Amino acid sequence: MGGQAAGEAAGVSPVAHEGILRRQKARESAARTYARALPIVPVRARGLTIEGADGRRYLDCLSGAGTLALGHNHPVVLEAIRKVLDSGAPLHVLDLATPVKDAFITELFHTLPPELADHARVQFCGPAGTDAVEAALKLVRAATGRTGILAFTGAYHGMTAGALAASGDAADIQVARLPYPQDYRCPFGVGGPRGAELAARWTESVLDDPKSGVPHPAGMILEPVQGEGGVIPAPDTWMRRMREITAARSIPLIADEVQTGVGRTGAFWAVEHSGITPDVMVLSKAIGGSLPLAVVVYRDDLDVWEPGAHAGTFRGNQLAMAAGTATLAHVRENRLAERAATLGSRMLAQLKQLAGELPCIGDVRGRGLMIGMELVDTDAEPAPAPARIVGAGSPNGEPSRSDAPPATSGAPHPAAPELAAAVQRECLRRGLIIELGGRDTSVVRLLPPLTITDEQATAVLDRLADAVETAARAHTGRPPGRSRPHGPDLGPRQDPHRAEYVAQRHD
Ligand code: PMP
Repeated sequence: MGGQAAGEAAGVSPVAHEGILRRQKARESAARTYARALPIVPVRARGLTIEGADGRRYLDCLSGAGTLALGHNHPVVLEAIRKVLDSGAPLHVLDLATPVKDAFITELFHTLPPELADHARVQFCGPAGTDAVEAALKLVRAATGRTGILAFTGAYHGMTAGALAASGDAADIQVARLPYPQDYRCPFGVGGPRGAELAARWTESVLDDPKSGVPHPAGMILEPVQGEGGVIPAPDTWMRRMREITAARSIPLIADEVQTGVGRTGAFWAVEHSGITPDVMVLSKAIGGSLPLAVVVYRDDLDVWEPGAHAGTFRGNQLAMAAGTATLAHVRENRLAERAATLGSRMLAQLKQLAGELPCIGDVRGRGLMIGMELVDTDAEPAPAPARIVGAGSPNGEPSRSDAPPATSGAPHPAAPELAAAVQRECLRRGLIIELGGRDTSVVRLLPPLTITDEQATAVLDRLADAVETAARAHTGRPPGRSRPHGPDLGPRQDPHRAEYVAQRHD
C-alpha cells in the first residue's frame, strides 16, 4: 500500500492518473469547473505544452484561464522566483514595503497608459481578480459618495458575494445593467457600428432620463473584450463613447483588464486600442506571472480611502510579484503584444476560412490572442429576432467581429452547447486543451500564451478543425458541410505532432 501510494504520489503512471482523478471526484466539491471537462492530471509543463500523469502531452490553449502570458514555467519566470528564494527574503509580508514589491510597482507603472501612470496609485488586493474588482467598486463608491454601479450584459467580474455583508458592513451594491455591443447576437438586431451606437445611446438615456430608475452611479465597470461572456471585443468607437459619457457626468470608469491585460489582445492593455484612459484599472491573472496577484490601479485624486478600507492577509506575495515583474518586462521588451496582434489576426483569418466551410461555426471573433468561435445548431431555426443588416461590419482598425461571410449573414441559429462540449472532448482526445465560454457555453475559446510559435499555432488550428468536423458529424449524423479548406496552414500534414495524437486517440 505504502509503495503504491508513494508511486502514485510521485504521480506519473496511468495508475496514478486514474487514482488521482477518482479521488478528486470523491473528495472535491461539486462546484469544480475545468476539472470536469478536462480529466487530465498535469505533472509537467513548459510553454504551450502540458504533460499528464498518463504520459500524454497536450497543447494548452486555456493557459490558466488566460493567466500564462509566457506559457508554463518560462525561464525568466523561474529565474525570478529562484532569485527570491535564494535571497532569503521573507515570503509573507502583509502589505509592507520590500525591494521585490518596489520593483514590481516600477515595472507595472512603466507599462500603464501614460496619463494614468503619471498620477497612479496602486492597491494590492487579496490575490484574485474578484477581490480587486471589489476594491475598485468600493473605491469609486468612497470617492463619489454614490452607491450604484453600471455594468454590462454578458459581463464577468468574479465570484465574491457576501463576505462584507456577513462582516456587518454595508455590501448591497445596486447594479444597473446596460447593453454591451455585439454584432452576432446584437440586441438591436443591427450589429456593426450602428448597433454599438444604439447601445451607447441607451446608456446615455439611462443616465440622463430622470425617470430611468437608475440613480446617478458611483462608477461604470467594463471589459474591453468580454472574455467569459463569449469573446466579444468592444468596438473602439464604443469604448471612446463610454469614456466621453462617463467623463461628462463625473462617473469614474473602471476597466476590468483582468483577462485582457499584458499583451493578450495585441496591445499591452486593451484600453490602448481605443486610446482611452480609464480612471481605474483592475488587474490580475498575467500580472503575477502564473502566481496569484491582483491589484487595482487608479488616479490619485480618487484616493480618499481611510487606512484599512480594503484589507486582506495575502496582499504581499513576493514570489508572485517577482514572477510578475519578470513577465511584464519580458512582454514589453520582446514586443509580445505586437506578436499577439499579428498571429491573432492570422489565426482569426484561418478560423473564418474554416467557418466558411463548416456551417456549425456561426461566428469567429476576437482580438489578438483572445479568440472565440461560436458553435450553432444549424438544424434549428434561426432566432426570430430581426435579421442583422448584412454588411454592417466593422470599419478598418476595429476588432474582428462578425464580418466573416457567409457564416454570419442573416439571423443567427441558436447556440449549440452540446456540440461545443463535444468539440472540447474531441480536442482533448487530439491533445488540445481549449476552454468553452459565452452566454450558452457554446463558444470555443483560445487563449494561447503570447509565446506560441507559428508551428504550434498551425498544430492548434489543425487539431481544432479536425475536432469540429468530427463532433459535427457525430452531432448531426452527416458530413459537417463542405470539404475542409485548402488554405496552406490548415492542412493536416502541417501539424508535426499529428501522428502522436492520432495514435493517442485510438488508445
Ligand atoms: N474579471 C475578469 C474580466 C475575468 O475574466 C475574471 C476571471 N475569469 C475575473 C474578473 C475574476 O478573476 P478571479 O477568477 O481571479 O477572481
